[in-house]
Formats: sequence, C-alpha cells, structure tokens
Amino acid sequence: MSSAAHAATSYLPPGSTLGVMGGGQLGRMFVHAAQQLGYFTAVLDEDPASPAGLVSHYHIATPYLDEQGLAQLMQRSAAITTEFENVPAAALRTLGAQRPVAPAADAVAVCQDRAAEKNHFRQSGVPTAPFASIGNEAELAAIGDDLLPGILKTAQLGYDGKGQRSVATRAELAEAWQSLGRSRCLLEKRLALRCELSVIVARARNGEMVELPVQQNRHHDGILAVTIAPVVDVAPALAAQAVAAARELASSLNYVGVLCVEFFVVDDGSADGALVANEMAPRPHNSGHYSVDACDVSQFELQVRTLVGAPLTAPRQHSPAVMLNLLGDLWFAADDSERPPRWDALLALPGVHLHLYGKLAPRRGRKMGHLTVTAADSASALAVARQAAAVLGLPTP
Ligand code: ADP
Ligand code: MG
Repeated sequence: MSSAAHAATSYLPPGSTLGVMGGGQLGRMFVHAAQQLGYFTAVLDEDPASPAGLVSHYHIATPYLDEQGLAQLMQRSAAITTEFENVPAAALRTLGAQRPVAPAADAVAVCQDRAAEKNHFRQSGVPTAPFASIGNEAELAAIGDDLLPGILKTAQLGYDGKGQRSVATRAELAEAWQSLGRSRCLLEKRLALRCELSVIVARARNGEMVELPVQQNRHHDGILAVTIAPVVDVAPALAAQAVAAARELASSLNYVGVLCVEFFVVDDGSADGALVANEMAPRPHNSGHYSVDACDVSQFELQVRTLVGAPLTAPRQHSPAVMLNLLGDLWFAADDSERPPRWDALLALPGVHLHLYGKLAPRRGRKMGHLTVTAADSASALAVARQAAAVLGLPTP
C-alpha cells in the first residue's frame, strides 16, 4: 500500500499543519495539544459548530467521503489522524495514498467491526467473552444456549451502549435481532464483571511504545461515567497483563497512533480474577481524559507525537485522579426545564479541572464535558469527586 511509502516519513516540525478526521471532543483536545506544540490544525467535519472545528485554524465542513473536502484536507495537511472510529476506511485510504495517515485505514477497519476485532484479540492470544456472529436466520437458529443470557450488539457503528440489546431467552434474542434491523450482529455471553479496565498505548512508526497507567472504569447505561487512575482494586499482576495484551494488540496491527483497549475483569475462581478483552478504539479514549490533568504527557500529546514522528516518552502520572463524565442530562431540572449546572459551586472545590466541549445544545445522554479531580492521594481525589458529584447531582462515584 502506498501508505507504506510514508512509513519512513521524517519528523514534522512545529509550523506544519496536522489534519484530523472528525470534529468531536476528542478532535478538539487533539487540536489543543497540537497547537500547544506549535502546530497548525485542519478539521474535517460537516457540522459547522463541531467542537474541534470551532477551535481549529482550518475547518472543512463536508461529509467524510466528500472528494473536495478530502482534497482540501490533503492540500492543507502534512499528516492526518482520526478522532472518530467510524470515519469510513475508504476515506482514510484516499488520504493515505497521498499523506501519512495514522492510524492507517486497515487498523481502523479492524476496530470498526466487532467480529474482526474479537477475532484479532483471539489471534493475538487475548481472551474474549464467548460470542457468535448472527447475520442470517440459520446463524440465529444455530446459537447455543450457552451464550444466554447475553448481549446482542450490532457488528458495526455501535458506541456508548447504542446498538445493544440485553437478551435472556431465544425468543428475546429473535425479537432483539429484528429490532436491530436484522443487521449483522454479535451475541456475547453476559459476564459477571468484577470491574472494567482500559489501557491506552501509543505506538510510533518505528515500533516504539509507551502507555498510560491502567484505568479503572465504571459505566452507567452503557456510557462511561467514572474513571479512576491509578486503579484501586486490581492486582498488579492483572494490570500488567492488561498492558502486555494492549501492547501485543498494537504491535500485531502494526499500529501507529494512540490505541485504547477495554477489558473486563471476571471471576474465574482465582484470587485476582481473569482478564477478558472487550473492545478497542483506534484513537484517544474517554477513559484517558484524566491524563490531560494528571500525567506529564496526555493521550492527546501522544497522538500528536506519533503523528509527527516525535520521540515518545513514558507518561508519568503525577497526581491520582478521578474523572467524571458530564452528560447533557445535567442541564435539565426534574421538571425538564433547562438550566446550566452550578459551575461556580463546582469550581470552589480544590483540584477540580473542568472541561466543557463547547457543544451548543445539551441533550440527555450527550457528552458535554468532563471533570477530573486531582489530589495528593487517591482517597482525597475520590472524596472531592464525591463532593463534585453532589454539587452537580451526579450519582456518587
Ligand atoms: P460500546 O461500544 O457501546 O462501548 P461495549 O461493548 O463496550 O460497547 O459495551 C458497553 C458496556 O456494556 C461495557 O463497558 C460493559 O459495562 C457492558 N458490557 C458489554 N458487554 C458485556 C458483556 N459481555 N458482559 C457484561 N457486560 C457487558
Ligand atoms: Mg465500550
């Protein structure tokens, strides 16, 4: 592939323009990191008010597959990355023929399909939940009862718990598949989770890798709610195993950029529990946002460094951190009237770092921002995070 021709791309100095496919909050934080390091940025996102487009030097407001939009992005940019895993792989291939693109289209394509992703985990020797593909009636009929109760997930385009149905019986499974438009799906056995972890690894073109400390995550209704780093109740050996698995997955994809791998810790009778890989994201991840305030190199700076061919240094977490996601729900009172959260009361708390993404319209379930509490020790960070949650009306972390 012609992107291989770019593999030896040398270091792009500050002053160069970096392109990003997608204009959401991840793109916005990438733009901030790139600008801090002296780069110019170009964002492609059709939304004229996209969070990243609003803060970028250049904003190309076209759909991802628009030929003129892609041509403009290439003309502007010395190298291009992505902030959204569902950017069509075809668009990344078009860009990759002319510019260094990281991560590459092929790696992104694996992450875009739950079946390809899980097969990649298994081929790399990383365990997954038991699962089966359902793409037609025969495959539906062939499902073994051992996968029930389970979770039916669309193979493509799912995120934040969207495109998922919990099913306990065969009848519910058939109904759920119907309700998902009989699209290609995966049925995964529902596992009893002790906790959830994620690992963010950055890999350079020369194969060098660094990672952030392992994160512990809590989800509400399929959406990330809380991240705690360093982890509180995970055995060091298990955390090390998660890091080794994430590194192996990045290497075997010949990945360039920032990759997040989500894991479950499940009971297997052992004291530590067993590690199962859930899914991966070919970009910085919500669970790594704490790194902006709590580490000396953030996940977004790592994305910039991998893209421009700068050296990677191992991130050091200088403060224990608790991150809370701020969804649009917080903007609505019990009677459904809209009013902004009490930011002034929140900002009175020590060590609170508030990040708002500049989204104009709050909606329930929409990620509007996050806050990270840093403190001298984990217990203090958690105590302040609980105060912050009480001020905002969030569940106690
Ligand atoms: P998404 O792409 O929406 O993040 P995930 O597969 O990560 O989809 O599922 C979202 C959340 O649902 C997970 O973080 C976990 O809390 C829960 N979940 C998903 N799969 C399973 C499973 N097999 N067993 C138990 N819980 C699960
Ligand atoms: Mg997930």
